Amino acid sequence: MTHSECAAGVPIGVCAMTTKKHLKHLVRVRAAQTGEPYATALRKILQRKESSMSPDTIQHDVIAHCSFCSKPNIEVEKLVAGPGVYICNECIELSSAIIEETRRSTSEDSQSWRSQYYDRTSDDILGLLPALSRSAKRVEAELAAWIKLLRERDTDWEAIADAIDIPVSIVRQRFGAQPK
Ligand SMILES: [Zn+2]
Repeated sequence: MTHSECAAGVPIGVCAMTTKKHLKHLVRVRAAQTGEPYATALRKILQRKESSMSPDTIQHDVIAHCSFCSKPNIEVEKLVAGPGVYICNECIELSSAIIEETRRSTSEDSQSWRSQYYDRTSDDILGLLPALSRSAKRVEAELAAWIKLLRERDTDWEAIADAIDIPVSIVRQRFGAQPK
């Protein structure tokens, strides 16, 4: 499924289409041979494809941003993924330093930190909202991007809806008509 397999002179779009059909065929064959459901067969085949991709191809694409400092994966050494969130090596180092600092702090410090956290004024909380809202938008955009990729790979809406535990009709409405 590499570009070298594309016939010379064939436009990329046509080639991608052929690849997609070919993938569908592979999935059907695998599903028939193994008795796995279509979605499982697809996942297994894609996993095999991904593991055969060279790290170089992956490195040059912006696939995610650090949820803490917003730097994209191509600007940092490492990006560690969690569900919907990422943290870069720089933020991990900073976090470690903060944790180290906290270890040295007295119980009085920790008391004051607690009261700072829980006794926030409404203005403080309002001040937190823009950053929280930006994070929520980023997570939503990322969810949409992954779902778009799955749809390009012909994953059923049902499988996607199942994965995020939201009714199919709502998932289609929310992610179906993405403006290009
Ligand atoms: Zn970061």
